[in-house]
Amino acid sequence: MWCGTGSYARSFRRMIMQASKSGYSLFRTGWRWLAGSFLSVLTLATNAQTTSVEEAALQRCGTVEYERVLQQRNPNRLRQLNELNRQLEQVEANRMLLRQADDQTIYRIPVVVHVVHNMASGEIGGITNGNISDEQIASQIQVLNEDYRRQPGTNGFNTNPVGADARIEFFLATKDPAGQPTTGITRHYYAKKASFDVFNDDVLLSQIAYWPSDRYLNIWVTKVDSYLGFTQFPTTADTLSGLPANSNEFVDGSIIDYRYFGRQIGTVRNSTYCCGRTTTHEIGHWLGLLHTWGDAVCGNDYVTDTPTSEGSNQTVNCKEIFSTCSGRRTRNMIENFMDYSPDLCMNVFTQGQVNRMRTVLNLSPRRFRLIQAAMTPLGETEKLTINVYPNPVVSDVTVDVQLKGFQSYTVDILDLAGRKVKTSSYADSPSTRVLLSTNQLATGIYIIRVKTASESVSSRLLVE
Ligand SMILES: [Zn+2]
Repeated sequence: MWCGTGSYARSFRRMIMQASKSGYSLFRTGWRWLAGSFLSVLTLATNAQTTSVEEAALQRCGTVEYERVLQQRNPNRLRQLNELNRQLEQVEANRMLLRQADDQTIYRIPVVVHVVHNMASGEIGGITNGNISDEQIASQIQVLNEDYRRQPGTNGFNTNPVGADARIEFFLATKDPAGQPTTGITRHYYAKKASFDVFNDDVLLSQIAYWPSDRYLNIWVTKVDSYLGFTQFPTTADTLSGLPANSNEFVDGSIIDYRYFGRQIGTVRNSTYCCGRTTTHEIGHWLGLLHTWGDAVCGNDYVTDTPTSEGSNQTVNCKEIFSTCSGRRTRNMIENFMDYSPDLCMNVFTQGQVNRMRTVLNLSPRRFRLIQAAMTPLGETEKLTINVYPNPVVSDVTVDVQLKGFQSYTVDILDLAGRKVKTSSYADSPSTRVLLSTNQLATGIYIIRVKTASESVSSRLLVE
């Protein structure tokens, strides 16, 4: 399903052309995040008693490999990623310096799950059917909330001294891009391909199904070649002048194999990847987290409280693993969601990882828009509309500003002679509930005026 404008379609076509020109050959990037990252695509040995030969060759996560593909397509991407990293480190340094308390806001992320299957009859559910059931999808959303909220009494809880509640929640979207009620699940029969690969099929999947990635976390659930899943990292692209505004927005999300999406239900039969942590891990990347070993021997994941480690834990058990980095022997944090451990070993996001994810939600433009739009109680409207209340007002007046998408606008209070007595500006904002104080205003009639680049709406206000 496609939702978008003409310019969206044009830039998408451009992206496809770039993608097809780029070819698929691997190249060594200079990006330090990826130094030595071939480690991350080591073959994973899974439990032979419960998995097929095909599954035994699976690799936990294709995100690092996928990042190479994205950088081939977009020469600016490396710079954007490095810029985001620089900003993240700056924010963290300031936070430490100012000893800022944790912000307690709960961010709620609307999710759309696009099920891309080859079940011609359209039948839903069963143990081999890629057209997985609503219940299976619901079980995955539940796992995400247990893990990102470190919920007591669930697999997502831990007593690790550096373990933290990310204060991020996920829910299946209740409104589609046109504002209509939805289950947050879309289903698409696609028989031309038996499975999708990490190198170019993100574009194809996006053509089959996509909702705007600045309003939804898109998760495509289908059969994936070689990996359990992969994800696009966030960037700062459209905050930086001279860089493309919306690179890769159409493939922004996670692509997860249907046999590992959900917890011990339907198609989830594997004993190692039983419990929904493939998606917890991949969304960690969507929120800017790197693997705990920094994709290099003793590499840097830009988080100080995950112990430096020589590599991933790619086993079928939770056995302790030790690393010697900088001459010191330390225990690897195999419980971390950003390791490659079996699902049931994982239960930790650290405080440092939580800080990084929350900063990404505020710094990466698409992520920021998404949480802004999710937090407003007001929906989109085709035309600018305002609702002013209470009216008459004594002290504080509320102005509900509803508009299409994200726009910059001003909210002014004018006197009857047309003089501005109060003004506030909103840059690149969705529909917003604006609160204005009228304490300083003399009794009388005023005009509330809201102006965007192309529209202006006014309403009378009586101040008592
Ligand atoms: Zn990964």
